[in-house]
Amino acid sequence: MLLILACQNVEQKAQVEVAAKVEPTQPEETEIWEPKPPSVKPYSKGGAPSDAIILFDGSNFDEWMSSKDSTAVKWVLNDDGSMTVKDKTGDIQTKKNFGSIQLHLEWRSNPENKATNQNRSNSGVFLQNRYEVQILDNNDNPTYVNGQVASIYKQSIPLAMASVTTGEWNSYDIIFHAPEFNNDGDKTKSGTITVLHNGVLVQDHFELQGTTEYIGWPKNEAHGKAPIKLQDHNDQSGVSFRNVWVRELD
Ligand code: MG
Repeated sequence: MLLILACQNVEQKAQVEVAAKVEPTQPEETEIWEPKPPSVKPYSKGGAPSDAIILFDGSNFDEWMSSKDSTAVKWVLNDDGSMTVKDKTGDIQTKKNFGSIQLHLEWRSNPENKATNQNRSNSGVFLQNRYEVQILDNNDNPTYVNGQVASIYKQSIPLAMASVTTGEWNSYDIIFHAPEFNNDGDKTKSGTITVLHNGVLVQDHFELQGTTEYIGWPKNEAHGKAPIKLQDHNDQSGVSFRNVWVRELD
Protein backbone atom coordinates (compact mmCIF):
# COMPACT_ATOMS: atom_id res chain seq x y z
CA MET A 1 0.00 0.00 0.00
CA LEU A 2 2.79 2.40 0.88
CA LEU A 3 4.42 1.70 -2.43
CA ILE A 4 1.20 2.47 -4.29
CA LEU A 5 0.82 5.75 -2.43
CA ALA A 6 4.40 6.66 -3.29
CA CYS A 7 3.73 6.36 -7.02
CA GLN A 8 3.43 9.73 -8.73
CA ASN A 9 1.57 8.93 -11.94
CA VAL A 10 -1.41 6.82 -12.94
CA GLU A 11 0.48 4.42 -15.20
CA GLN A 12 3.05 3.71 -12.55
CA LYS A 13 0.34 3.23 -9.95
CA ALA A 14 -1.49 0.74 -12.20
CA GLN A 15 1.69 -1.24 -12.78
CA VAL A 16 2.37 -1.48 -9.08
CA GLU A 17 -1.27 -2.36 -8.31
CA VAL A 18 -1.07 -5.32 -10.72
CA ALA A 19 2.25 -6.35 -9.25
CA ALA A 20 0.89 -5.94 -5.75
CA LYS A 21 -1.45 -8.90 -6.25
CA VAL A 22 1.47 -11.26 -6.28
CA GLU A 23 4.14 -11.26 -3.60
CA PRO A 24 7.33 -9.91 -5.24
CA THR A 25 10.18 -12.36 -5.46
CA GLN A 26 12.83 -10.02 -6.92
CA PRO A 27 14.12 -6.75 -5.42
CA GLU A 28 13.60 -4.94 -8.76
CA GLU A 29 9.84 -5.48 -8.54
CA THR A 30 9.59 -2.98 -5.70
CA GLU A 31 12.02 -0.39 -7.08
CA ILE A 32 10.72 2.91 -8.53
CA TRP A 33 13.11 4.78 -10.87
CA GLU A 34 10.95 7.47 -12.48
CA PRO A 35 10.04 10.25 -12.23
CA LYS A 36 13.12 11.48 -10.45
CA PRO A 37 12.76 14.20 -7.78
CA PRO A 38 14.28 17.54 -8.81
CA SER A 39 17.89 18.16 -7.83
CA VAL A 40 18.42 20.82 -5.18
CA LYS A 41 21.83 21.96 -4.01
CA PRO A 42 21.61 21.94 -0.20
CA TYR A 43 22.61 24.89 1.90
CA SER A 44 25.65 25.37 4.01
CA LYS A 45 25.80 27.65 7.04
CA GLY A 46 24.58 31.13 6.13
CA GLY A 47 23.37 30.07 2.69
CA ALA A 48 20.18 28.75 1.12
CA PRO A 49 19.16 25.79 -1.06
CA SER A 50 19.45 26.39 -4.81
CA ASP A 51 15.67 26.53 -5.33
CA ALA A 52 14.86 28.83 -2.40
CA ILE A 53 13.43 32.33 -2.61
CA ILE A 54 15.81 34.57 -0.67
CA LEU A 55 13.70 36.83 1.52
CA PHE A 56 16.57 38.51 3.38
CA ASP A 57 20.32 38.16 2.87
CA GLY A 58 21.38 41.31 4.70
CA SER A 59 21.67 43.59 1.69
CA ASN A 60 18.22 45.19 1.51
CA PHE A 61 14.51 45.04 2.41
CA ASP A 62 13.39 44.55 -1.20
CA GLU A 63 11.17 41.56 -0.39
CA TRP A 64 9.44 43.30 2.57
CA MET A 65 7.10 46.14 3.39
CA SER A 66 5.47 47.70 6.41
CA SER A 67 2.37 45.76 7.53
CA LYS A 68 0.76 49.01 8.68
CA ASP A 69 0.57 50.83 5.38
CA SER A 70 2.57 48.89 2.76
CA THR A 71 5.31 51.56 2.79
CA ALA A 72 9.05 50.91 2.97
CA VAL A 73 10.39 48.96 5.96
CA LYS A 74 11.68 51.20 8.76
CA TRP A 75 13.59 48.52 10.67
CA VAL A 76 17.37 48.83 11.00
CA LEU A 77 19.65 47.25 8.40
CA ASN A 78 22.88 46.33 10.21
CA ASP A 79 26.43 46.07 8.83
CA ASP A 80 26.70 42.40 9.82
CA GLY A 81 24.00 41.21 7.40
CA SER A 82 21.16 41.30 9.90
CA MET A 83 18.14 43.51 10.55
CA THR A 84 16.76 44.68 13.88
CA VAL A 85 13.22 45.61 14.83
CA LYS A 86 12.85 49.39 15.12
CA ASP A 87 10.51 49.94 18.01
CA LYS A 88 6.95 51.06 17.23
CA THR A 89 7.50 51.19 13.46
CA GLY A 90 5.25 48.16 13.19
CA ASP A 91 5.38 44.63 11.84
CA ILE A 92 6.92 43.90 8.47
CA GLN A 93 5.67 41.40 5.92
CA THR A 94 6.70 39.89 2.62
CA LYS A 95 5.42 41.55 -0.53
CA LYS A 96 4.71 38.09 -1.90
CA ASN A 97 1.91 35.82 -0.67
CA PHE A 98 2.62 32.23 0.25
CA GLY A 99 0.70 28.99 0.71
CA SER A 100 2.46 25.92 2.11
CA ILE A 101 6.15 26.54 2.67
CA GLN A 102 9.44 25.48 4.17
CA LEU A 103 10.87 28.55 5.90
CA HIS A 104 14.31 29.14 7.38
CA LEU A 105 15.20 32.15 9.48
CA GLU A 106 17.72 33.05 12.13
CA TRP A 107 16.97 35.36 15.04
CA ARG A 108 18.80 36.81 18.01
CA SER A 109 17.43 38.14 21.26
CA ASN A 110 18.75 41.42 22.60
CA PRO A 111 21.13 40.94 25.59
CA GLU A 112 20.35 44.52 26.71
CA ASN A 113 16.67 43.67 27.08
CA LYS A 114 16.19 42.78 30.76
CA ALA A 115 12.39 42.95 30.84
CA THR A 116 10.44 39.98 32.15
CA ASN A 117 7.81 37.53 30.98
CA GLN A 118 6.45 38.39 27.51
CA ASN A 119 8.36 41.66 27.25
CA ARG A 120 11.88 40.23 26.90
CA SER A 121 12.87 40.13 23.23
CA ASN A 122 9.39 39.26 22.02
CA SER A 123 8.85 38.95 18.31
CA GLY A 124 7.33 36.24 16.19
CA VAL A 125 7.02 34.81 12.74
CA PHE A 126 3.46 34.70 11.42
CA LEU A 127 2.65 32.20 8.68
CA GLN A 128 0.03 33.54 6.30
CA ASN A 129 -0.17 36.65 8.48
CA ARG A 130 -2.19 34.69 11.08
CA TYR A 131 -0.35 31.80 12.69
CA GLU A 132 2.45 32.81 15.07
CA VAL A 133 5.53 30.82 15.95
CA GLN A 134 6.66 32.71 19.04
CA ILE A 135 10.06 34.35 19.38
CA LEU A 136 11.02 35.20 22.97
CA ASP A 137 14.04 35.27 25.27
CA ASN A 138 13.05 32.63 27.80
CA ASN A 139 16.50 32.16 29.30
CA ASP A 140 15.88 32.55 33.06
CA ASN A 141 12.66 34.27 32.12
CA PRO A 142 9.56 32.16 32.80
CA THR A 143 6.27 32.79 31.05
CA TYR A 144 3.12 30.80 30.27
CA VAL A 145 4.39 27.75 28.41
CA ASN A 146 1.90 28.00 25.55
CA GLY A 147 3.41 31.42 24.86
CA GLN A 148 7.08 30.58 25.38
CA VAL A 149 9.76 30.52 22.71
CA ALA A 150 8.86 28.18 19.81
CA SER A 151 5.27 27.80 20.96
CA ILE A 152 2.46 28.08 18.44
CA TYR A 153 1.13 31.04 20.34
CA LYS A 154 -1.53 29.96 22.87
CA GLN A 155 -2.11 26.69 21.01
CA SER A 156 0.86 24.38 21.27
CA ILE A 157 3.54 24.13 23.95
CA PRO A 158 6.93 23.32 22.37
CA LEU A 159 8.27 19.80 22.93
CA ALA A 160 11.54 21.26 24.23
CA MET A 161 13.16 24.57 25.15
CA ALA A 162 16.12 24.68 22.74
CA SER A 163 17.31 28.31 22.87
CA VAL A 164 20.97 29.25 22.69
CA THR A 165 22.52 31.77 25.09
CA THR A 166 20.89 35.21 24.94
CA GLY A 167 22.55 37.29 22.22
CA GLU A 168 23.63 34.29 20.13
CA TRP A 169 21.87 33.32 16.90
CA ASN A 170 18.94 30.88 16.96
CA SER A 171 17.56 29.16 13.88
CA TYR A 172 13.99 28.18 13.06
CA ASP A 173 13.22 25.71 10.30
CA ILE A 174 9.48 25.67 9.78
CA ILE A 175 7.35 23.41 7.61
CA PHE A 176 3.89 24.87 7.19
CA HIS A 177 0.96 23.34 5.36
CA ALA A 178 -1.76 25.90 4.79
CA PRO A 179 -5.35 25.21 5.88
CA GLU A 180 -7.93 24.59 3.19
CA PHE A 181 -11.44 26.06 2.88
CA ASN A 182 -14.41 25.22 0.65
CA ASN A 183 -16.43 27.70 -1.40
CA ASP A 184 -18.80 28.26 1.54
CA GLY A 185 -15.84 29.45 3.58
CA ASP A 186 -15.77 26.40 5.85
CA LYS A 187 -12.42 24.92 6.81
CA THR A 188 -12.04 21.50 5.20
CA LYS A 189 -8.48 20.80 6.33
CA SER A 190 -6.50 22.26 9.21
CA GLY A 191 -3.11 23.82 8.65
CA THR A 192 -0.10 22.12 10.22
CA ILE A 193 3.19 23.43 11.56
CA THR A 194 6.43 21.60 12.22
CA VAL A 195 9.30 23.55 13.79
CA LEU A 196 12.96 22.72 14.35
CA HIS A 197 14.55 25.15 16.82
CA ASN A 198 18.32 25.03 16.46
CA GLY A 199 17.85 21.60 14.85
CA VAL A 200 15.69 20.29 17.71
CA LEU A 201 12.15 19.17 16.90
CA VAL A 202 9.87 21.40 18.98
CA GLN A 203 6.58 21.29 17.00
CA ASP A 204 5.75 17.98 15.36
CA HIS A 205 3.14 18.45 12.62
CA PHE A 206 0.88 20.38 14.98
CA GLU A 207 -2.66 20.78 13.65
CA LEU A 208 -3.64 24.44 13.91
CA GLN A 209 -6.94 25.21 15.64
CA GLY A 210 -7.15 28.53 13.82
CA THR A 211 -5.55 31.95 14.19
CA THR A 212 -3.22 32.53 17.15
CA GLU A 213 -5.07 35.14 19.18
CA TYR A 214 -3.68 37.22 22.08
CA ILE A 215 -7.20 37.42 23.52
CA GLY A 216 -9.95 34.97 22.61
CA TRP A 217 -10.32 31.66 20.81
CA PRO A 218 -8.72 30.74 17.48
CA LYS A 219 -10.64 31.96 14.43
CA ASN A 220 -11.14 30.15 11.12
CA GLU A 221 -12.15 32.70 8.53
CA ALA A 222 -11.42 31.48 5.01
CA HIS A 223 -8.33 32.90 3.34
CA GLY A 224 -5.93 32.19 0.53
CA LYS A 225 -2.20 32.70 0.17
CA ALA A 226 -0.87 35.45 2.42
CA PRO A 227 2.38 37.12 3.48
CA ILE A 228 4.93 35.98 6.04
CA LYS A 229 5.04 38.56 8.84
CA LEU A 230 7.70 39.42 11.43
CA GLN A 231 6.49 41.09 14.60
CA ASP A 232 7.34 44.42 16.21
CA HIS A 233 6.06 43.79 19.75
CA ASN A 234 6.22 47.55 20.56
CA ASP A 235 8.35 47.13 23.67
CA GLN A 236 11.90 47.89 22.50
CA SER A 237 12.45 44.19 21.96
CA GLY A 238 15.65 44.70 19.95
CA VAL A 239 15.24 41.32 18.23
CA SER A 240 17.36 40.82 15.10
CA PHE A 241 16.95 38.55 12.06
CA ARG A 242 19.22 37.24 9.35
CA ASN A 243 19.34 34.68 6.54
CA VAL A 244 15.63 34.30 5.76
CA TRP A 245 14.67 32.03 2.87
CA VAL A 246 11.63 30.07 1.81
CA ARG A 247 10.77 27.13 -0.44
CA GLU A 248 7.25 26.92 -1.77
CA LEU A 249 5.55 23.56 -1.28
CA ASP A 250 2.48 24.12 -3.45
MG1 MG B 1 5.39 37.36 19.70
